[in-house]
Amino acid sequence: MSYCHSRVVNVVVAFDLVKCKMCGKATVVSFGMRPVCDTCRAKEQELYTLVRTVLRDHSDERLTIQDVAEILEIDEKEIMYLVDSGYFQLKMRNLQLYDA
Ligand SMILES: [Zn+2]
Repeated sequence: MSYCHSRVVNVVVAFDLVKCKMCGKATVVSFGMRPVCDTCRAKEQELYTLVRTVLRDHSDERLTIQDVAEILEIDEKEIMYLVDSGYFQLKMRNLQLYDA
C-alpha cells in the first residue's frame, strides 16, 4: 500500500497546474517547464521570428516594447513574455536582440 501511495506523490510532483503566462488559461505542465499552454508554446517560436524581423528591419531605431507591439498589433504582454523567457533583452527601455 505504501508503494502505491508514493507513486501518486511522484505524479503530483512531476506535473504542475499553472496559469499560462501568455493567455492566462489554466494548463498542466511538466515539472520545471515554463508556464505556458500548448497553444502558446506553438505560437512562441512564430512570435519570436516576427519580433526578431521587426527589430532587424528597424535596427537603426530604438524600439520599445510598446513600439514593437504597435507594429505587430499584438499585446505588450506577449513581448514581455519573450523578454522574460530570454529571447530578447531590454537595454534602458529599448528592446534588443541578444546577438545585436
Ligand atoms: Zn496560453
